[in-house]
This record gives sequence, structure tokens and C-alpha cells, in this order.
Amino acid sequence: MKKEQIYLFDTTLRDGAQTQGVDFSIQDKIKIAKALNTLGIDYIEAGWPGANPLDTGFFKSKPSLDKSTLVAFGMTKKHGRSADNDPGLSSILDANTQSVCVVGKTWDYHVEVALQITNEENLVNIKETAKHFVKNNKEFMFDAEHFFDGFKNNKDYALSCIQAAYDNGARWVVLCDTNGGTLPHEISEIVGEVSKIIPGTNLGIHAHNDTENAVANSLAAVIAGARQIQGTLNGLGERCGNANLISIIPSLLFKNYFKDKFHISVDEHKVSYLTDCSRLLDEILNRKPNKRAAYVGSSAFAHKGGLHVSAVQKDPKTYEHINPEVIGNMRSIVVSDQSGKSNIISRLEKLNIKIDPSDEKIQKILDEVKDREFSGYSYDGADASFELLTRRLLGQVPDYIQIKSYEVKVIKEDNKTHNLNSIAKATLLIDGKEYLCEGKGNGPVNALDQAIRNNLENIGKYSEYLSDLKLIDYKVRILNTGTNAVTRVSIESTDQSNDSWFTIGVSPNIIEASFKALIDSIDYKLYKSKAPAGSK
Ligand SMILES: [Zn+2]
Repeated sequence: MKKEQIYLFDTTLRDGAQTQGVDFSIQDKIKIAKALNTLGIDYIEAGWPGANPLDTGFFKSKPSLDKSTLVAFGMTKKHGRSADNDPGLSSILDANTQSVCVVGKTWDYHVEVALQITNEENLVNIKETAKHFVKNNKEFMFDAEHFFDGFKNNKDYALSCIQAAYDNGARWVVLCDTNGGTLPHEISEIVGEVSKIIPGTNLGIHAHNDTENAVANSLAAVIAGARQIQGTLNGLGERCGNANLISIIPSLLFKNYFKDKFHISVDEHKVSYLTDCSRLLDEILNRKPNKRAAYVGSSAFAHKGGLHVSAVQKDPKTYEHINPEVIGNMRSIVVSDQSGKSNIISRLEKLNIKIDPSDEKIQKILDEVKDREFSGYSYDGADASFELLTRRLLGQVPDYIQIKSYEVKVIKEDNKTHNLNSIAKATLLIDGKEYLCEGKGNGPVNALDQAIRNNLENIGKYSEYLSDLKLIDYKVRILNTGTNAVTRVSIESTDQSNDSWFTIGVSPNIIEASFKALIDSIDYKLYKSKAPAGSK
């Protein structure tokens, strides 16, 4: 059987860019377009020329792409103007792309309320716009806005709108669930009906995630006949987002139903770039990657329970639906108090620590982890503290900085203000020499952190290794173990390499817990930077 092609259309740079808090620069847009091209996406909708200087600028300096076709976006011509004299349509042509995608109304309610024109006038706008781009030799796509709501409200009219686009030369008619409220069974039914009038090979789906069904809706549309899927990287998009291409692609490529019937341009080789591509967007947006993201999240192939871990080591298929490596992700083994030796061994392997499985130190590490977990430590997600713990037990981490003493004060000076000041002092020992550090902060932990950080230049030979160390997240949890409450502090740190690492500290005292996590972060940074050991 010959496989049919499903075309992938990415709108991260257009629909995704309309998200709250997203503000791409031209360089960001070029970076993303290149990544999508490497992945092998068929169409990249890169913006709305004429709508803002940034998008117009992007098309002026558009990157040359060998795999993907750039698409300029816009809307149907305005009522009362000819297509040739419509400035919006001219801007789209000026973008000089091979393909254009133009949105138009298909819900009569919107025609009346938003456009305030007659249904007939809207049909003319769609028809004239299609003709105009076809005449100008463009591959024309019609985004049928609010199609599913329109279909439910006035089926004949919604169909006549897309028919007008198709009959006048639209290569693609894209059915949009603009408000995102449609469910998969409705998508199946409606796309099925539409495909009786317009061939599925000319139909696309543009789903929004307002019921958490954008991916399911996109797949349902394909099953019902549509052959183009529009979506974004990581589901970026306004409100709850767009259909997430990062989740859709591997399902099309690896799940038998789709794999047997369809072909996509992201082949088995290029898809290994998928995880990187997802993380690149997070990096550009300065967001923390979603651990729980399907396929590409760092937890997507993380195993915790001792039983799970030993089964996964016998055959990963026991607890994994696909092999993480094919999409550029990896398996991770999470240590917990349920874990046995096999957990520890796998985790050491991941850290590139070579150890004989029969080495008695493994038991020592396991006992230490269990002891600490009993007192409130949790090494799930605190990789750096785990690595330090094991390497210290194996004698691989030297002493760098020793803490001789520290002192923290919280001062409220004035009754009228709510300001609390915290002052911290710490005496550090490096190579036998004492360094007194002082810091001020809005809280005791902040003050302690400042005491060390502000004095980096004074703390001798380690200053060069620590100057780019940054604390990016700080979390406190109070745990109740029996009669005593203990505090668990976790810190996320980063440096100029952009790696981030997590360390933890536990103590009945919040300051001490914070300090332990902070010192682990510094030690980890020194260890990873291969800083020299301190002398006694
Ligand atoms: Zn949209």
C-alpha cells in the first residue's frame, strides 16, 4: 500500500508568538525557523507581514531554508476594497514567499458581530482573496476561522465559505477550532462530513488546546481524512496553547496505525532532533522545560520504583512505550527509598562513575541514601547533591571551602515600616586561611547567600570558578517526621554553560538547611569546573 503524506505546518512564529509573555526578536525567529527546517517541517508560518515591523522585518531578512517552505500570514481582503487595492494583501505579497495562509470568517455569528457585513459580502471577500493569490502564483491556504463553531451554528454557510476558497484555487482549506472547545468525536464527525465535499488531501486541521484535546483533535482529523496538521513547538499559543507538534510528530511516526498508513517529512533520522528542538524553544523563551512533557520531558522516561527499575534494566519495554533515544531523549533512573542496589548502579552509570557491581561501596552508598531519606532528604531531582554524596563516599571530591562558623541576624528597626533586614556573617576556611564574609538581604537565607556571593572576589583561588554561579530557584518544604518538623530546601543553580543543577539540604533549622543546599551548589560548581583542592 502506498503511504499518504501528512503535511506538517508549524505556526510557532505566528500563532505561538501571540502568546502572553512571548516576545521573539528577529534573531529568535531565525533560530527557530532553522531548527524547524532541520527537523523537516513542511511549512513554517513565520508571521504576519504588515501587521508589525518585526514580522515585516523578518520576511525582509528571511533565512534560506532547504527543507521547509516559509508561509506569510494575513487575513482576507477588507469589504469595500478590491483585492488589488487592499494594503493587507499587498503586504503579504511583498513578503515574497511561495505560500500564503489567509484567515477568513466561516461562522455567520462572527460575520455579523465582528465584521458587521452580510454573509454574502464575506463570501465575496474569501472568493476574491483566493483568486488574487492564485493569480499571483502563490500556493494559497485558507484558514477557516471558527470553522467548527460555525458548522454547528450554520452548517450550510460554514461549508459555503470553505467551498468558495476551494473552488477558487485554495491548495489547502484549514479547519480551525479557534476557540478550542471542540472534542475529538465532534472533530471526527465534522471533518468526515467536510471531506465528502472537499477532498481530505486538501484539508488541514488547526486545533487549540482549551479542552486539553488539541493533539487528540489533530489526530482525529487525520483519521477522518485531513492531511495537514497545524501546530506549534511545545504547544506554544495563546490561552491554553495550540496543538503540540512535539507530541504529534512521534505519534505519527512510531504508532502503528499512523506509521502504516502515512508518511511525514520528519523521518526516523531527523526525529532524533525532537527533544533538542523542544528545549531550544524553552531556552529562547527563558522557560524551564516541562519535565512531564510527553516524549521529550525529562520525566517521560524516568523510573523510580525498585521493581520498575530492575524490570526496565532487563528490558526497557516493560515500562516504556517507545525507546527514548529515537527522539533524542533519555532514560533516567530516580533514586528513592524504595530503591535497591540496581537503582544505585544505574544512576552511577549515568554519572559515568565506573564501579564493579559487586563492590561493597555500593551498599555503603545505598545505606547512606536510605539514612538520609529517612531524615528528610529526597534525591529525586537533586542530581547534583546525589552526585556529590556518592563521589564523596568514593573519595573523589576534595575539600574546597570549609565553613568555620556563621551567624545570621534578623533585625526590625522601625515600627512604622514593614522592612526586616537580615545580616549574615560567615567565616570560610580556604587553604588554612580565614575569610570573613558579610552580606545583607531581605531574609536570612538571602543574606547568607549574599555573604558568600558578594565576597567571591575575596575568597581567593576559587573566585574565578564561582563568578558565573547563579541561583535560579529556591524552594522550601516543611516535613513532619514524627515529633520534629524538619525543613528541606532545594536550590537550582546555573552558570554560563546554561546547565542547571539541583542541590538539597535538610535540617530542623531552615538556615542550616539552606546553607547545606547552598554549599552543595558551590561544591558542585567547583567539582564540575575541576577546581583545585584546598590544602589543609
Ligand atoms: Zn490559532
